[in-house]
Parts: sequence; C-alpha cells; structure tokens
Amino acid sequence: SAKEEETKGIDVEEKPTTRVTRNIVFVTAEVAPYSKTGGLGDVCGSLPVALAARGHRVMVVSPRYVHGDPSDVVFSGALDLDCHIKIPCFGGLQEVAFFHEYREGVDWVFVDHPSYHRPGNPYGDSYGAFSDNQFRFTVLCHAACEAPLVLLLGGFTYGEKCLFLVNDWHAGLVPVLLAAKYRPHGVYKDARSIIVIHNLAHQGVEPAETYKNLGLPLEWYGALEWVFPTWARTHALDTGEAVNVLKGAIVTSDRILTVSQGYSWEITTVEGGNGLNGLLSSRKSILNGIVNGIDVAEWNPASDEHIPFRYSIDDISGKVQCKTALQKELGLAVRPDCPMIGFIGRLDFQKGVDLILSAIPELMQDDIQFIMLGSGDRQFENWMRALESTYKDKFRGWVGFSVPVSHRITAGCDILLMPSRFEPCGLNQLYAMRYGTVPVVHCTGGLKDTVENFHPYAEEGSSQGTGWTFSPLSKDSMLAALRLAVGTYREHKSSWEGLIKSGMEKDYTWDKAATKYEQVIEWAFCDSP
Ligand code: ADP
Repeated sequence: SAKEEETKGIDVEEKPTTRVTRNIVFVTAEVAPYSKTGGLGDVCGSLPVALAARGHRVMVVSPRYVHGDPSDVVFSGALDLDCHIKIPCFGGLQEVAFFHEYREGVDWVFVDHPSYHRPGNPYGDSYGAFSDNQFRFTVLCHAACEAPLVLLLGGFTYGEKCLFLVNDWHAGLVPVLLAAKYRPHGVYKDARSIIVIHNLAHQGVEPAETYKNLGLPLEWYGALEWVFPTWARTHALDTGEAVNVLKGAIVTSDRILTVSQGYSWEITTVEGGNGLNGLLSSRKSILNGIVNGIDVAEWNPASDEHIPFRYSIDDISGKVQCKTALQKELGLAVRPDCPMIGFIGRLDFQKGVDLILSAIPELMQDDIQFIMLGSGDRQFENWMRALESTYKDKFRGWVGFSVPVSHRITAGCDILLMPSRFEPCGLNQLYAMRYGTVPVVHCTGGLKDTVENFHPYAEEGSSQGTGWTFSPLSKDSMLAALRLAVGTYREHKSSWEGLIKSGMEKDYTWDKAATKYEQVIEWAFCDSP
C-alpha cells in the first residue's frame, strides 16, 4: 500500500560502479577492534576496509584510549607519527599527537590527548557518562579536520579535496568546522561531508554557555542553537537555551545517512525524531538509509575461533554440538531438543530489556532455556542476577561484555530475541541469521528491513522467511511470536530447516553496502554548490 511504501524510507540504488576514487576520512568515537561498545564500532571497523578494497584512499580518525589495563595492547601496532598540533578550544590550546597503523588497506589514525587516558569505555565508567565528553569530542573533531592537511601517510597528505564521513554527534562538529572555521579562509572549499546517524537518541546537547568553548566563530551560533521544550526545563529562570551538536551536523553536512532505510523514515516522524524530526523532514531530499553489512570474516560459523565446533550451510551438525557445549558451560541441562533462546546487547531501555524481564515469569512456564548476555543499566543487571537464582534450571543472566561469549551464544541458541523499542540497524539479528539462529524481533527500523517474517505457505523453492517480526511492542505480542517460533521448532522440523537455510544463505557482505555508500558520496560532490 501507499502507506507501506512511504514508511520504507528512501533506498539508494546500486548504480554500476562510478569508478571515481576518493580520499575518505571517517571520524568516530569508537572503532573495532581498538575500541568497541556497539554497532558504531563494528561499522567503523569494517566499512572503511570495504571502501579501501574498492580503490579509495581511506583514513579513520578516532581517539587513542589508554585504560591502563591489558586491553590497551590492541593499540600497540599504532606508532607515534611525531606530529603535534595545538587546538584552540575551551579557553586554551590543547596539544594533541597522532598515532597511526596501516592495516587492511586503511590508515587507522588515533588522536592522543590526556583526556582519553582513563579507565572505562569511550563514553564513561561505572559511575556514568564522563562529564567532559563535550570537551573530549571537540578535541577529536578539531584534530580530525587537521589530519588530512598535516599528516604525511605513505608520503602524501590526504589533502583538501576529501570526503568526511562523520559518525554520530561525537564527530558532528566536523562539518560545522569545515563551514565556519575553514571555508571562510579558503580551506576545504572542495571537501564534502556526510553525517551518518547510528542513533538519534544521543545528540550532544549541552548548556548554551559551552558554545564559546567549541572554537567556532560567534556568528555560527544559530547552526547549533537548540531550545528545550518548557517541560524539560529545570527551574523558573531556565530559558531552555542549549547547543545541539548533531543538529549542527545535520544543518551543515552535504548528505545525511542512517544505517537502515526504515530508520531513515522513522527519524522524520514525531515518535522517532527525538525533537529533530522537523529539521530532518526539511532535509529529506538529502537523507537516505543504507543497511549495514557485517564483518563476514569475524562472523563466520565455518571458521569462527570463538566457538567449539564449526559448521556451514552444507553441514549444520556442528550447531547442535555448539548448543550442547553452551548448555554445559552455563550449567543448564544438556538437552539438544530443548529450544534455547538468547539475548545479547546493551541493557538499555532502547533494547526492550524491561519487556523481556516482565515476560520471564510466563515464559518460564514453558519447556525452554533462556540466556541473556549484556551490561549497562545497573537495575537491569541486578534483575538478571535475581532471575537467575529464581529460575536455576532455565535462565542464565551473564552480566558483562564479552565478544567470545557473544559468539558462543549466537552459535548455540536456536532463537535470538530482539524486542528493541527502536533499532537504527541492529547487528545481532544479522549475525544470528548467518549462524542459523532464528531471530524474533520487534518490527521496527533496521530489524524490519532485515528480518523477513515467516510465511509457512510460501511456494516450493521460494523463501519461507528468515524469522518473526512482531508488532506492536507489547509483552503479549512478543510472547505470541516467541511461542510461534518455539512451536515451529518443536513440531515443524522442515519449516525450521527452511528458516535456518534462508537466513544462512543471505548476502551480508559489506561490499553491497559499500557500493551504495559510493553512490551517496558521489551525490555529495555533485549536489553541492
Ligand atoms: P547498538 O550499537 O545499539 O549497541 P547493534 O546491534 O548495532 O546495537 O550492535 C551491538 C554490537 O555490540 C554487536 O556486535 C553485539 O554483539 C555487541 N555487544 C553488545 N553487548 C555485548 C556484550 N555484552 N558482550 C559482547 N558483545 C556485545
């Protein structure tokens, strides 16, 4: 129907390759394997490699985090370029250094500054978000703008005619700086920028007074200007005046991208726009969505080093062995036929964790096993621990962040549950399908775009779907979908095999997405004045 068409968002056609090669500069707060907390890190670790393989010169600029623990070893291949610059912001000059590693055809560049040297993850520690994040990411953005001008990589700078691909609010000052700080002086006239929105929930909003710290000319205040609605103000004298970095990026970038088509539409609606829907709607002509690919080398059941048994679509017997090994590891009954449901992700309201926890008492009446892996919100962590002691035979709540465990759960479970309230793209459902694990997901954003709902009466030879997409987001509709999945697993073996097969057969490589990115990059260069 027309309504359905409208809610799809706007696709990017895969044109036959425009063989223009570009100098591309990614700017991001996190990048796998150096620093990853979620999908943003995965994307910035693998899309650059795919673009480099297609002939582009690609640099990724992110902070050099030093935690003072063994995890720092991931940065050990990156060497000091002996290039120090001073950045004017926050009332002084901030000295930064650059480190560099050339790997898989990509220049991985790390900005070094004392504010990146502390325990925790890129954004905070167990006490919450760091209070100086605006400062830390302002430094990153200024340094990233200088990198193509000052860094000699392989003997040459990237130069002024490059494409900045900036990710989320942390990198959002880059296009503003290009427009406000550089172009008025004739620098970066031929550069272009694309803001990629991985999650609109975080926008980099701070009190208006901070504007003077950002190193921007006063007359550009309007680009970042943001007024809180009355209900969000804290006291009578609060005028709601604030700055919003992501808004600045949306206003000044040449193109806007999100990580799925579905999400590119949702963010133009009141429900999904987080206050930016009006602005995003007015920029619709330069807004597109491209579904993420995945790192098919890291996530390959035929060669995965984290799982005890390997398997592929031709011989899937290793999957059951992975399941029984997981049951053993978790201290659950070793029962190859008992449906095993998994959840992996940040313990956050966004991910619908509250919905899962509220459904557990009902779900535990069925003959199933359930394993949750995640960290984040303290309250959810405690609930998971409590449920584990209540339902010793059936439920495991693994509090923590562990890539190897996430692989073992993805391989060992039969069903992966993702009841996200909103999901810009979502990666776990893609990993699951590649591992023959059937996703049951809320029909939203990238989940809706990537999981094909089960249809048992599909014609011979055509796909029966790859999982279940439920809607609305409620405990009952989630339980109904899960029970359908469990029933199919138990009683309709051939349908189940069909589901597994269609999921495993799909093409998840970055190459397809990289072609679409190339198309949008070319639009950035031709559409702009
Ligand atoms: P988001 O970026 O919103 O967190 P995505 O689904 O796009 O969600 O990406 C999440 C990534 O982080 C996936 O690679 C997932 O496996 C990983 N991940 C999330 N939580 C954990 C955890 N507790 N342990 C290991 N990996 C995790």
